[in-house]
Amino acid sequence: MKALRLEATGKLALREVERPDPGVGELLVRVEACGICGTDRHLFLGEFPSKPPVTLGHEFCGIIERVGDGVSGFREGMRVTGDPNIACGQCPECQRGRVNLCHNLQATGIHRDGGFAEYVCIPQQKAFELPLALPPLHGAFCEPLACCIHGVDLAEIRTGSSVVVLGGGVIGLLVVQLARLAGATKVVLVTRSEEKRRVAERLGATANADPSVGDIVSRLTAHDGLLPGGADVVIECAGVAETIEQAPGLARRGGTVVILGVMPQGVKVAIEPFDLLFREIKLVSSFINPFTHRRAAELIASGTIQVEPLISRRIGFKEGVEAISNPARKGEIRALVVPGID
Ligand code: NAP
Repeated sequence: MKALRLEATGKLALREVERPDPGVGELLVRVEACGICGTDRHLFLGEFPSKPPVTLGHEFCGIIERVGDGVSGFREGMRVTGDPNIACGQCPECQRGRVNLCHNLQATGIHRDGGFAEYVCIPQQKAFELPLALPPLHGAFCEPLACCIHGVDLAEIRTGSSVVVLGGGVIGLLVVQLARLAGATKVVLVTRSEEKRRVAERLGATANADPSVGDIVSRLTAHDGLLPGGADVVIECAGVAETIEQAPGLARRGGTVVILGVMPQGVKVAIEPFDLLFREIKLVSSFINPFTHRRAAELIASGTIQVEPLISRRIGFKEGVEAISNPARKGEIRALVVPGID
């Protein structure tokens, strides 16, 4: 079968490899689509630890081709989405229920072969059924959505809250929708691309702002701005120093800042502890998807969260190598690798 293999840092290739056999308790899934995430680019550049040689791809969905011994509740022909993160269940964090902080966390598409391939094997505990009537590519959004659900849970948005979302990529555009679902009545998306701001409006943002024009913090929080005094909640979804530094200033006194964006390891940003303390800003970070994948599957399956406007390109494996090895194209939200496309 075809697979996109990370062979070493900076070396990604389309290879012909053996189709895997499902082990005990595993499902062999014929991949229908796998999204290219910023993390895949970080893995390619060696900015995120992995275990090459490995097939990348952690945002996948597909049809069960074969079930391994001991599998129950799944059968051939079912459509599933896979949660890539596999916790050990034994370490102190797992035993505290903090599975996303597992000391021995393994991920499909990072440490074990993933979804940029014709087939992928996943443990049945990590598979969640999706309806066959769903457009096949939509299931590939369950993984990023599951991460956003965790972030929005931590934000504790209340009915009538105001929210600023920084960064209009897939994560920001999913968070905009989740914030509205959680009851926020003002959701302001801040992103540079005009195209992404338009998409955000279609998805429920009540307003948007271009951060490249003037000082975004004073512009939004001024007494005649969109959010006088700041927002109840600010969710950082860009993963750049500038937005992380802006986030506390956009929160009201007593407000909450959630960091979802990933900065390269070792990079430091300027945050003023006095300001956090004096205005009692709650600063929390949100890492991956503890127990949220089933909810993500439910939201996608029911069409409650819209993902069609987030699909920028459907590409084959060959183009996938180029897409992962380079920064995302301007204005692109999500490119998906679809086996069968040349
Ligand atoms: P993405 O496509 O790169 O989106 C980030 C967006 O931020 C870009 O599209 C860019 O859009 C915008 N941006 C960049 N600089 C900005 C600035 N100065 N002000 C405002 N917006 C700015 O990435 P993504 O897939 O949506 O992911 C977003 C972040 O979440 C990444 O860091 C990713 O690694 C992280 N992530 C975290 C988790 C987790 O568990 N915490 C899970 C998945 C992903 P414009 O060009 O329009 O500005």
